Amino acid sequence: MLADLQARNHATPHAVSILEDAVSAREWWADQWPEGQVYVAGLVAQDVQDGLFDTAGRWPLCLTCSGPEHSLYIQPDLGGPDPVWVCEESGDVVAPLGGLGD
Ligand SMILES: [Zn+2]
Repeated sequence: MLADLQARNHATPHAVSILEDAVSAREWWADQWPEGQVYVAGLVAQDVQDGLFDTAGRWPLCLTCSGPEHSLYIQPDLGGPDPVWVCEESGDVVAPLGGLGD
């Protein structure tokens, strides 16, 4: 997740603090419900995305398509299992979560 922020030059102190808050909230949640562990990474990514949207704008942007600026989103919506970034325009899988820089 941090790797994805870094890959898109978005690992600002503000973004990292959103990430840390999201991780601690979701880990607390997974402690209450261990089966939820597979969803944690994807949910954290969605939390960071939402947090950044209010302050810094769209993240992560799709770099694959041409045309108007648009973002990627986490699929499956529930956050897991096996979360991937999907382009909101084309619906194509762009990278696994954590793999935007690869
Ligand atoms: Zn796209």
